[in-house]
Order: sequence, then C-alpha cells, then structure tokens
Amino acid sequence: MTESFLVNKVLNGIVVYETLRVYNGKPFAVKEHYKRFLGSLSYLGEKISYKQFLCEVENKLEFDRIKIYGIVNNGVTLYSIGEYFEKKKVLDVKVDISKIRHADPISIPPNFKSLGRADLHLARKRKGENYDVILLNGQGFVCEGSFSNIFLVKDGMVYTPSIESGVLEGITRKYVIEMLKEMGYLVRETKIELKELFFADELFLTHTSGGIVPVNYLGKYKFETSLSKELSKSFEEYINEKISGSF
Ligand code: PLP
Repeated sequence: MTESFLVNKVLNGIVVYETLRVYNGKPFAVKEHYKRFLGSLSYLGEKISYKQFLCEVENKLEFDRIKIYGIVNNGVTLYSIGEYFEKKKVLDVKVDISKIRHADPISIPPNFKSLGRADLHLARKRKGENYDVILLNGQGFVCEGSFSNIFLVKDGMVYTPSIESGVLEGITRKYVIEMLKEMGYLVRETKIELKELFFADELFLTHTSGGIVPVNYLGKYKFETSLSKELSKSFEEYINEKISGSF
C-alpha cells in the first residue's frame, strides 16, 4: 500500500476505528471490538470478516495498544498501528464540562466510532489542561467524555449515563459494570443531571487505554478518590484474570 494510495482513500472517504489493549502479549476483548467495528462499518453499508480483523490484531501483539482503522472508500481498507504506553503518571485528573454539546443520536449514532467526529473532536481540542471534558446531551443530561464514559459514586451506589443518554457503548464501561455487580455494588444506568455530578462522592472515567481513571477535580471542585483508586486496581486484576481465562 503506497502512501499516496492511502492519502487518497482517506481524503475521499471516511475512517472508522477501534483501539484495543494488549496485556502481556494478549489482546483484550477482541470479539467485542470487532463487533463494534462491524457496527460502525454497517452504517456505511460495509463489513469485514473476523479473520481480517484478527489478522490486524495478531500482527501487533508486541505493543501495549493497537489502533485499527477501516478506511471506507469503495470498500474497506484496513490499516493498523501499534503503540507503547508512555509511562507518564497523571497526578491530578482534572475534568470539566464541555461547552460543546454531544450530537443527537438521531444525527450521529453514538456507536458510529469514526475519526474526526465533529462534536467529540471539537470538545477534545478545547479541553485545555483537562484530562477529558464531559459533554452533555441535547436535553442537558450528562452524556460522556470525548474519549471516555463517566461514572459517579453516591452513598455507596454507582451511577452512569444510560445508553439512551446517547453514550458510546464503551467496552470498559461494560466490564466495569459487570465487575461492580459481581462485587455486590448496585449500579444504575440512568439519566444523570449535571448537578448530580457536583454532588457525587466520587467520579471516575472509563476507557480502554486507562481502565478506571479516578477524577480529582471537576472544574474547581475537588473530589475524594479513595474508592475509585481501589476500584481501578481491582479492575486491572479483573481484566488480567479474564485474559488468562477464556479470551
Ligand atoms: N466514549 C467515547 C466518545 C469514546 O471515544 C470512547 C473510546 O474511544 C469511550 C467512550 C470509551 O470506550 P472504550 O471503553 O470502549 O474504550
């Protein structure tokens, strides 16, 4: 594949993508990522086989993270890159509320994971020093970060915006909910008002590259992180167990 061939495809097409984590040479949740990739492609009337997707993954297992792109322009051209994790430690995770609203699911399906999605892209570009920014949906309810899902803890219960709030069905979100339920937590997927974030005991984000990320600040308001930190560790162990099992 020459560079100009690729550039041409990208400039005249649209690119869908997935980011996968690799733990000690083993990729996590490949089937789920494939299913979501297939979902994104289906909005464009395209598909690829599991074998093709797996082949991209298997070629990059020495990396910590694999990004798989589907360039859609007269069929699908697959392209993937592997990345090593920077060992940079984020001391205080600051998030804020984005002034950009999340696109209505009627306009752009939240599970259509494509590059350059204007709402997410603009929000991310304007996040400044923040780790991520939280977008509200068209009705003003809490939706998601520009690359993460959000959870809040209040009085020992855990809440996260429901799929109907317009969030991407995050793969980390799904496994975090599963783990929390197994640990005996009550988890509610529901509509969340903005003020509920500020009244939360703790907040955390979830995404493939970071797992559970405890939030220290929402705007200028400081939050407790002790439970989120424990959950973050438990989640690493939970994934490692899953990986050494059936994945
Ligand atoms: N929400 C958005 C908008 C995202 O782009 C991402 C990840 O790319 C997530 C949530 C988290 O999803 P996952 O846990 O599958 O990485």
